[in-house]
Amino acid sequence: MTEVVGRFAPSPSGRMHLGNVFAALLAWLSVRSRGGAMILRIEDLDPDRCRQEYIETLRDDLQWLGLTWDTEQTPQSLRSPAYAAAFDRLQAQGLLYPCYCSRTELHAASAPHASDGRVIYAGTCRNLTPAARAAKTKAPAWRLRVPDEIWAVEDGLQGRYEENLARDCGDFIVRRADGVYAYQLAVVVDDAAGGVTEVVRGMDLLSSTPRQCYLYHLLGKTPPAFFHVPLLLAPDGRRLSKRERDLDLGALRAAHRPEALLGRLAFWAGLLERPEAVSAAELAADFSWTRVRREPVVVY
Ligand code: GLU
Repeated sequence: MTEVVGRFAPSPSGRMHLGNVFAALLAWLSVRSRGGAMILRIEDLDPDRCRQEYIETLRDDLQWLGLTWDTEQTPQSLRSPAYAAAFDRLQAQGLLYPCYCSRTELHAASAPHASDGRVIYAGTCRNLTPAARAAKTKAPAWRLRVPDEIWAVEDGLQGRYEENLARDCGDFIVRRADGVYAYQLAVVVDDAAGGVTEVVRGMDLLSSTPRQCYLYHLLGKTPPAFFHVPLLLAPDGRRLSKRERDLDLGALRAAHRPEALLGRLAFWAGLLERPEAVSAAELAADFSWTRVRREPVVVY
């Protein structure tokens, strides 16, 4: 039997909030309940959004919760050569093209937004002639040409989710104009390199998964199993974000014991009848995905 390998992949763009911890707990339970290994990977890809000071706090917050890991992967900010190799492989397949569109042009020319607010690229730079490309003076972003094909994921919690990549997604960016590789490419390269067998993360990333499955295919790798867990929502229906300071781990650690927080999260997940204090190890003893709820959770 292949070993189960899961991962935490936090972005150090703020303190972890309750929604991040909810996904981290379920990722940990899924792996540990089957004796698998956990990887920690710091997703500090975007230098504009990530701060060094949050990295130590992320590790400390996970440890405080008892959400342990076995190995730490190289942080994404140091992995450019691996992403460049994947980029070259896509380039060699003739699937990449430079895109010179500005933000304003993208909004003006794009097709109706996808249901999740994504802008579907209109293809403005898809077929530029070599002469038109040579005339451009600014550094381009690089897009992946997607096929008019359905790519589906059998999500372990949410069931089947599919997109026609051309219609529902459009050609997407794999490297930004400033040279930073896109999350979609980096996450696939890193999960494949880490031998990750299952990805457990928030529902907001379900719509990225067909794109990622397509990248796995193009890079000749096997995709992991996916479990997209419900988002935590404020009573007005907004999803909790790192802006909700009262629900970040700084405020929560000052007011609660880790077992009390874990008990509340496990109750929201559907794993406990009541929000009673419990350790992560106790929850792992009888964890099963069949008991985890699929719908968003309104908290407070
Ligand atoms: N780094 C992403 C986040 O913190 C998670 C990416 C993933 O799990 O694929 O939202």
